[in-house]
Amino acid sequence: MSSKTLKREIAKVFYEKSDQRVSCFHLLKNTESKMKKPKKMNRYCPFCKKKTSQKLKEPSKGKPSQLKRGGKIRIRLRGLWRGIGNQGRYSRMKNQQKGKRKTTKKTNIVYTCSVCKKSKYQKQGKRTGKLVIE
Ligand SMILES: [Zn+2]
Repeated sequence: MSSKTLKREIAKVFYEKSDQRVSCFHLLKNTESKMKKPKKMNRYCPFCKKKTSQKLKEPSKGKPSQLKRGGKIRIRLRGLWRGIGNQGRYSRMKNQQKGKRKTTKKTNIVYTCSVCKKSKYQKQGKRTGKLVIE
C-alpha cells in the first residue's frame, strides 16, 4: 500500500468518527503538500540563449503600500471608514478562523543565471503548503 492510499484510509476513519469533517481533510491536505527544490539547477537562460547553472531563490515579500488605492490609511484620510468595526468591507475576520483559511499558496521562485547574473521569475506557480530550497 502506498503512503497516499494509507492516508486516504486514515482520512476515511477520521471522516466517520469526527464531527468536524471538513477541517480534518484540510489538515491532511496540508501535510501532504510539500515541495523540495535544489539550490542550483541547470536551466535554459533566455539572455545567454543556452543552458546554464542557475541559483534558486524565494523573493521576500514587500510591505503593501499604505497610500495606494485600497490602503487602510488612504481610506481613513478620505473619511470613508467611519464608526466602529470593519463594516463588512475592510477586513475579513470570519475567513481567518483557524482551519478555515487556505492552507496552500502558489510558489514564487527567482532563477539567477551564474554566467550573466541576470534573473528571471518562474512562469507559473504551483500550489504547495511549503517550499523547501536545499
Ligand atoms: Zn545567462
